Amino acid sequence: MKKIVSKFGGTSMGDAVAIKRSAEIAISRKSFVVVVSATSGTTNLLVEMTQGKNHLAQITEKHFKIADDLNISLGLLSPLLDELKNAKNSDEILSFGERLSSVLITETLKNSGVPVQLIDAREIMITDDDFGKARPLLDKIALKAKEKLPFGKTVYVTQGFIGATEDGRTTTLGRGGSDYSAALFAEAVGAEALEIWTDVAGIATTDPRLCREARPLEEISFKEASELAVFGAKILHPATLAPAMRKNIPVFVGSSFAAEEKGTWIKKESTSAPLLRALALRKNQVLMTLTTPDMLNSHGFLFKIFQIFNNHKISVDAITTSEISVALTLDGQKHVDQKLISDLSQFAEVQVEENLSLVALIGNNINHTPGLAQKVFSIIPEINVRMICQGASKHNFCFLISDASGPDAIQRLHRGFIPNTLP
Ligand code: ADP
Ligand code: ASP
Ligand code: MG
Repeated sequence: MKKIVSKFGGTSMGDAVAIKRSAEIAISRKSFVVVVSATSGTTNLLVEMTQGKNHLAQITEKHFKIADDLNISLGLLSPLLDELKNAKNSDEILSFGERLSSVLITETLKNSGVPVQLIDAREIMITDDDFGKARPLLDKIALKAKEKLPFGKTVYVTQGFIGATEDGRTTTLGRGGSDYSAALFAEAVGAEALEIWTDVAGIATTDPRLCREARPLEEISFKEASELAVFGAKILHPATLAPAMRKNIPVFVGSSFAAEEKGTWIKKESTSAPLLRALALRKNQVLMTLTTPDMLNSHGFLFKIFQIFNNHKISVDAITTSEISVALTLDGQKHVDQKLISDLSQFAEVQVEENLSLVALIGNNINHTPGLAQKVFSIIPEINVRMICQGASKHNFCFLISDASGPDAIQRLHRGFIPNTLP
């Protein structure tokens, strides 16, 4: 056994065949800890259950069918499904996707003769009580991992996405959070490598669903991959790389459907540092412009407005300022409620524009390369650009356009910047 943490995402747990393939990968890689997502689509159903819909029958049928196909006794799932019937709190309800799928892969490994132990992630992944997007308590997690995951001959299977407060209330880390869980487990056990097994053969130059010419990258640095994740590439949850960077754990991203393909290694240093490595698109952004003449020759304005965003627990992504106004972007309309607007209106006139997309160009030395902006905008001359952010990071250049122009802009920029190495 190696000190490897392997994470299998929703599609890699999607049906009996996928689960078998994932189990085989864990065996051949000699994984120490296996972290799993819910079977694909299940968390969406559970989200709807938290909103009052009843999908219990559908979830039961789906998991019973997979269990049947894998020769797993349905009796191993029934207690969980009974518990789901009576669950009340939102994070409690959401936890069942991963709790069900983890039973399925544990039994599959067991049936292959592997010594395996299923660990409830909530015994290790201790978090604060910010339900829905709980933050991990690293020291506590490290202690628990030492106690519950001794390195030896047993493979441990556990759930991504879920955790618990110190007093045992179930929490979740936010949608797509299983990647982050796996990285936190890797950090806590001091893993040699973290493997993220998904439905594409690595991190590509852009989302393959958006651009047919996207091609997988053999390697990428932690810094570039973090920018990519933060700027919307769904391939990794935005927080995933922080634990790996803290402990310098190399991260592999590969396809559980084609394990023989190369995949991508994310490392501290990569051998090449191209000007542009990848492009990302983050849809459904909101641009908020705050204008006040009071900003002229005064201080404290930004402090006051950021205090309001802080009170509302909203994170601001890109920001630009002028003499009398500040423009900033927020992720999704859900944040823009009347209370936020009225709080901000005490200090400034508030204008909100919706349905925008942030295009991010990720690479190296971006703020020391003459002519980059000129080339970008000459590729998409007719697209209206609402905001540009450059300067803060040498790894990223981003700008805001309408949602409707997003895919076309990505395709054209990809063609213009990423050499086509396909035959
Ligand atoms: P999982 O369920 O395994 O976590 P996700 O659906 O969350 O999988 O993430 C994988 C998806 O990320 C891919 O199917 C792909 O559409 C999308 N994606 C976005 N940007 C990229 C990129 N740069 N490279 C590869 N995949 C990307
Ligand atoms: N199952 C969770 C979700 O769909 C977590 C994950 O898959 O990463 O958001
Ligand atoms: Mg994911």
